[in-house]
Amino acid sequence: MFRRVDLCAPADVNNDAVRVPAHYENVSSTQLGSTLRNEAGVTVATVEHLMSAFSGCGIDNALVDIDGPELPVLDGSAAPFVMLLECAGIAKLPVPRRFIRVLETVRVEEEGKSASLSPCDGAVFGFEIDFDCAVIGRQSYLYDAGTQAYKTEIAPARTFGFLHEVEHLQSVGLARGGSLQNAVVLDGNGVLNTEGLRFEDEFVRHKILDAIGDLYLSGARIIGRFDGYRAGHGLHYKLLQALFANPVAWEYSDGLAPALPVSTLPLRRAARG
Ligand SMILES: [Zn+2]
Repeated sequence: MFRRVDLCAPADVNNDAVRVPAHYENVSSTQLGSTLRNEAGVTVATVEHLMSAFSGCGIDNALVDIDGPELPVLDGSAAPFVMLLECAGIAKLPVPRRFIRVLETVRVEEEGKSASLSPCDGAVFGFEIDFDCAVIGRQSYLYDAGTQAYKTEIAPARTFGFLHEVEHLQSVGLARGGSLQNAVVLDGNGVLNTEGLRFEDEFVRHKILDAIGDLYLSGARIIGRFDGYRAGHGLHYKLLQALFANPVAWEYSDGLAPALPVSTLPLRRAARG
């Protein structure tokens, strides 16, 4: 649950008007990341990297107070969020976890892109990208969330874009903070960031990071296998819509399945209030 604390007095942070539930039905735009909007029209933009960090760290419940319309992009990855969550620690709640178990394969596709969810005894994310650009080219990656490797394999992978896109966005007043400090930027010849890539396949790893965050707007972690082919935020939400539109394709589960991700964060006493 996000709370836009800049839009209300401190005593009113629990008013529905400033609370924006982290739920796929509230996704209002997927153009430059995922934007949520509540019934009062209050928005929170670019939630996917923080949502991904929550999923990767095994956090089911969180209140996110934010004092502006957009999550900070930080270094373009989820690693700073994971670091801060580790510093904060977690509290164990008295209620059992609830998972969403995929029972039947659901698939969506458009314009040569596709995304699917299939039954699987764990949480697995596969992705393949195919860019008409020599540096990226064709990359695929399979991430098993049960391996607990989110922090090292997925979280550090940064978002990426092409120089001409960044220039265009900035010419229309967007991505004004966009720089080589918060994204991998490419031009026709290669990567412009002097430090280079964090992984040879950083691009497809970031697509998995995004998919984990987008699918977490389902309201629970999903027991099943996700496969994305050149997909993006818009298709991820269409996939969730297709899943929940088909009552026999999924069920709530208490999560007694093998190889489910659990949190390895330090346990702290629950904060009250
Ligand atoms: Zn992203």
